[in-house]
Amino acid sequence: MSAQKASAQLNAMQSRIRDLLARADKPLSAYDVIDGLRDHGRVAPPTVYRALQKLIDEGLAHRLETRNAYVVCRDGGHVCGHRHRAGFMICRTCGRTLEFGDEEIERLLGGAAARSGFVAERVAIEIQGLCATCASLPDANGA
Ligand SMILES: [Zn+2]
Ligand SMILES: [Zn+2]
Repeated sequence: MSAQKASAQLNAMQSRIRDLLARADKPLSAYDVIDGLRDHGRVAPPTVYRALQKLIDEGLAHRLETRNAYVVCRDGGHVCGHRHRAGFMICRTCGRTLEFGDEEIERLLGGAAARSGFVAERVAIEIQGLCATCASLPDANGA
């Protein structure tokens, strides 16, 4: 058994993009992805956007709304392979992006939504700041 779920049927382009996102240590824009695919020849942007959307639909990647960039799904450090709500902590210095999943989001929002009777359908939580490494650097806060 491989550590990665083989649920989704990805074509060559989709799995290349997924690998690219998995290797990246920060979110990639669509143009970063196009750039990263250079070795395989020129790729038309619509093809890349379609492949990215497929990865998102399969729960293998997420789109960061505030950055217009993409990350591989790393819920709890694993590639979860199912579509879920995700929140992100994005380091403004090194770009490192940490994902947190449904349960934590539910805990954050459940009370507020329940009180107002609001039925949340789409949630985007993106917290900008400093990752543990950058926050521990002496001049991280310009102090
Ligand atoms: Zn995820
Ligand atoms: Zn950082």
